[in-house]
Amino acid sequence: MARTQSPPLLLKCGVYLLKCNDCPAVYIGECRRSFKVRISDHINAFFDNKPARSAFVKHLIEEDHIPKAVEILHVEGKNQKRTALESIEIAEHMVHHQYNVINRTNINDLLIKNVFTRSPLYWQTNL
Ligand SMILES: [Zn+2]
Repeated sequence: MARTQSPPLLLKCGVYLLKCNDCPAVYIGECRRSFKVRISDHINAFFDNKPARSAFVKHLIEEDHIPKAVEILHVEGKNQKRTALESIEIAEHMVHHQYNVINRTNINDLLIKNVFTRSPLYWQTNL
């Protein structure tokens, strides 16, 4: 019987979330190669003390904070779908006030942000 084995999650690409251990800062990113390669970029930037390479690492270094967790939000190989999912996740996390989204590009996709800020969920969180 033939057995097909899918590659490990870290070798896929998609949308991920990085969390700070010491404050509500989160960073949402997408990768077109693999989670492993992209997350290694952040880790290396942190240990090499290169804040210019990563907005998340810049936050950690400037605030003297440490990273808490990486979460895989979506596995998605298609470029357009993945960047759309990234924008949606950024907008979703922005309207939940327990998070401080530190993405540099978080105001670029105004259309998606407008959709979310007009949703009933957003108004509930702002009562
Ligand atoms: Zn922090």
